[in-house]
Amino acid sequence: MINITILGATGSIGKSTLAVIDLYNKDFNVFAISANTDHKQMLDLCNKYHPKYAVMADADAAEKLASTVSVDTQVLSGTKALDDIASHTDTDYVMAAIVGSAGMSSALAAAKAGKRIMLANKESLVLAGDIFIEAVKTNNAELIPVDSEHSAVFQCLQSGTSGLNKIQLTASGGPFLHTPIEKLKNITPDEACAHPNWSMGRKISVDSATMMNKGLEVIEAYYLFNLDPGQIDVIVHPQSIVHSSVYYQDGSTLSQLGNPDMRTVIAYALGYPQRINSGVSAINLAKNSPLEFYQPDLDKFACLKLAFEALNKGGSAMGTINAANEIAVDNFLNNKIKFLDIPEVIEKTLDASIHSAPLSLKEIVDNDINSRQIAQEIINSYV
Ligand code: NAD
Ligand code: MG
Repeated sequence: MINITILGATGSIGKSTLAVIDLYNKDFNVFAISANTDHKQMLDLCNKYHPKYAVMADADAAEKLASTVSVDTQVLSGTKALDDIASHTDTDYVMAAIVGSAGMSSALAAAKAGKRIMLANKESLVLAGDIFIEAVKTNNAELIPVDSEHSAVFQCLQSGTSGLNKIQLTASGGPFLHTPIEKLKNITPDEACAHPNWSMGRKISVDSATMMNKGLEVIEAYYLFNLDPGQIDVIVHPQSIVHSSVYYQDGSTLSQLGNPDMRTVIAYALGYPQRINSGVSAINLAKNSPLEFYQPDLDKFACLKLAFEALNKGGSAMGTINAANEIAVDNFLNNKIKFLDIPEVIEKTLDASIHSAPLSLKEIVDNDINSRQIAQEIINSYV
């Protein structure tokens, strides 16, 4: 029996993870779960899975859960408790599926404890890529990507990187691929969250609409696969059937294909190196034809350009754009700023920040806090 900690159990990835685990209740045990504030959903999960620990990031929510839970589950709260369930000696695998930089500490705790980390929280690598990869190596942790593009590249690279020229991440282009830039001004949060192919949490849905998601993924790939920035390419593929490709010197290209459903990616991370059932059916190529591919429009999707810029700058610039993006998206979702303000806030924050090469986790966290403050001040000057 493999014990699993699911960080972000109430989210989109968390729920898909539980759906795959439901197919294998003799092999996988839900050891610990976490969520931010949704104590009602957590109560349902406690009743169904009887985890040893349930952690609410929010203290009030933890109190409410503790007062209602009747099964033998210990309810804890706070960041330290998240780190504890991620690094607990009795847990084997950790699904790191908290959204945003709030997920970094617990994902890193899992790495330091030498766990199998199924990494959905790409923000951990964007913020602290060098420290994270070092912790994985030093502690013999296993890092398996839970992002469809990176899982595709990981799968294609199973025979090694010999003769590799470049990788190519596919982007769906989001809901506004064919919308003229003038029409993007008055996009509402619900329109931005209506992704044509993938069902996801609201923050990553907005990131997909601005293509910042692809930008963060470029940085994620840089760290996961130890590449030069010039070896990472992006192509727009609106059908989301080809999940990514790797190009070799001999002229061969390998791609991974499948229906756009994260259960496939999660099953791969759970079963690796075996392939297990995910509950997802195979694609029908004829029904999904034609498959289209386009170059991304970096003027319309300025966030993608900004992410490449930050990667080329290196160091704190990546954490800065991530923090500015989280603040901008949050304000957009709360109707405080417009859709096209998102790239503007990120660019202004990047320009206003002092660029450094943070070496310690404290410096990374300080830069995250400072960049959030700068982004919020820029937004306050709009209203
Ligand atoms: P979501 O918003 O649906 O779920 C987020 C989870 O994190 C919830 O369980 C929530 O309670 C928890 N959470 C939120 N804020 C928190 C905080 N401050 N402290 C502790 N817990 C907190 O998000 P999602 O779509 O499941 O995405 C999760 C992560 O996976 C993100 O990093 C995202 O980029 C990545 N990802 C998601 C998908 C997808 O298809 N949804 C695909 C690839 C990668
Ligand atoms: Mg992705």
